[in-house]
Amino acid sequence: MVPPPPPGEVVPSYGYLVLTPGERLTLAGHMLATHQPDGPVVRVGLAWPFIAISDRRCTWCRNAWPCNPASWAESVQFTAYGWAL
Ligand SMILES: [Zn+2]
Repeated sequence: MVPPPPPGEVVPSYGYLVLTPGERLTLAGHMLATHQPDGPVVRVGLAWPFIAISDRRCTWCRNAWPCNPASWAESVQFTAYGWAL
């Protein structure tokens, strides 16, 4: 027997929460409004190979972009809408 999944999930920077779909989207929108990248989208390296390097950081939690909360929020929106806002 496989036990049923727990009702909640671990939300970055919030901990373990049990959310309705509406609450998840509200929280995701709040997170994306709070956690923002601090620089240009992509900086192209000047040396071969010309790899697009993104060294942005989150202006809120200062982690490498996309930070965990932003990644979580984007996946929530992608799941709900089929695309990230
Ligand atoms: Zn962040």
